[in-house]
Amino acid sequence: MKQQHYDSLYLFINGTWLEAGSRDTAAVVNPATEKTIGRVPLATADDLELALNAANSSFNVWRNTVPAKRAQIMKDAAALMRQRAEHIATQMTLEEGKPLHESRDEVLRAAEYFEWFAEEARRIDGRVVPSNRPGVQQLVKRQAIGPVAAFTPWNFPAITPARKLAAALAAGCSVIIKPGEESPATALALARCLDEAGLPKGVLQVVFGVPDQVSATLIASPIIRKVAFTGSVPVGRLLSERAAAGVKPITLELGGHGPVLVFDDADIEAAAVGGAANRFRGTGQICISSTRFLIQRSAYPQFVEQFVAATKELTIGDGLTEEVQVGPLANQRQLDKMASLVADAVAQGAKVLTGGKRIDRPGYFFEPTVLIDVPMSARIMHEEPFGPIAVLLPFDQLADGLAEANRLPYALSAYAFTSNARTALDVGDGLEAGMIGINQYRIIATELPFGGMKESGHGSEGGTEGIGHYLTNKFISQI
Ligand code: NAD
Repeated sequence: MKQQHYDSLYLFINGTWLEAGSRDTAAVVNPATEKTIGRVPLATADDLELALNAANSSFNVWRNTVPAKRAQIMKDAAALMRQRAEHIATQMTLEEGKPLHESRDEVLRAAEYFEWFAEEARRIDGRVVPSNRPGVQQLVKRQAIGPVAAFTPWNFPAITPARKLAAALAAGCSVIIKPGEESPATALALARCLDEAGLPKGVLQVVFGVPDQVSATLIASPIIRKVAFTGSVPVGRLLSERAAAGVKPITLELGGHGPVLVFDDADIEAAAVGGAANRFRGTGQICISSTRFLIQRSAYPQFVEQFVAATKELTIGDGLTEEVQVGPLANQRQLDKMASLVADAVAQGAKVLTGGKRIDRPGYFFEPTVLIDVPMSARIMHEEPFGPIAVLLPFDQLADGLAEANRLPYALSAYAFTSNARTALDVGDGLEAGMIGINQYRIIATELPFGGMKESGHGSEGGTEGIGHYLTNKFISQI
């Protein structure tokens, strides 16, 4: 494995790349080695004011840029992302830890969001509505909502910024984005592509800082007209309150605890082997991950055996090594959380079939872990694990399985495996989740609306639905 270069880190405000200078900085740590690889500048109050003013003045420029031009800049930026995919993917693996092949895939999918929404920019149409009064013409227009404040987490450092930026820019909005401080280089690399593709200065600012201070300042500013956040439920709730104070709409993509219903008529091996791969992808730090495997009782022994066997075969290590399938957790916090969730479940009677502890080597590595016989009182039955722990439990009838699947306030993703068309229809209807996979785990696509229900959030970030949150309706009634 050759030594890889980690990019310098900046704030990007009003078209200028700002070095740390006298600003405070935070360490960026490679989670596979625990070594500091860079320092990210933290925005001062003056930086945030500059960013707000730039977003405000550029909004008029950008919303008046014709859709074809906006689309071209976004497509040119996507082309640069594709050209630079290997470099950006390496940055992502260095700072986030995920295997290089997953990082490459993520960069390409981020580029696809820019391409998709570039096309959507050209389809922001309106309506002419017949009036009940003679001689009155009624127009309905959809216009860019205004400058956006967006907050994205460390686990998908390309795709979560891409979903927000692409839709907002296509709509004609200017944006201030605060990506996760743990994985800043990836978002900066995307911003560089947009800058070099000709995005007018001030239309996009990328800032880092103390998250709570940045969100408090940006959301309270009258300049910001729309908020978008991906992250945990408690932070989502806090940002909702802040947005509500200024009566600003907010799109929230929060946590999940994805149930998988495996019926005894399904291809059990496919559900088990694919389930292990899906559960431990991204070291389990994926909001739409399958976490609670509910298996119909007669298929339970086979599923458990095959799931555990597939888990034990996973190759764990530094994501820069090509054959690695599972990288480290993102940070020490995550490691401590996994250890405490397992200890709590075991203390209450759960059995660990494989894994269960930190791996004795540098880096935040935790063994892919499979738990059975977990009592309902265990924390992991209620809290999103957001790490490499799978819970397997049996169920009897469809109604019991559905009740367990829908028990939690989370409702982001859910999965079901069955060869019975009636069962597939019933679970598709009955599962409370924004995104459902039947007989498959890899379900996300640019052209589909990405988002959850209940406490997993609201608003969809892809598909034809994705651009609407960045537009506002206006009617003009003319006589
Ligand atoms: P966290 O909620 O502290 O942080 C998540 C992200 O939100 C970080 O990037 C952080 O910078 C940002 N953030 C935190 N407080 C903020 C604030 N006051 N204002 C603006 N942004 C803020 O969680 P964590 O410990 O970093 O991650 C673990 C938990 O986060 C998981 O249990 C999971 O629920 C959740 N999470 C969810 C997603 C997702 O894709 N839905 C992604 C990452 C984390």
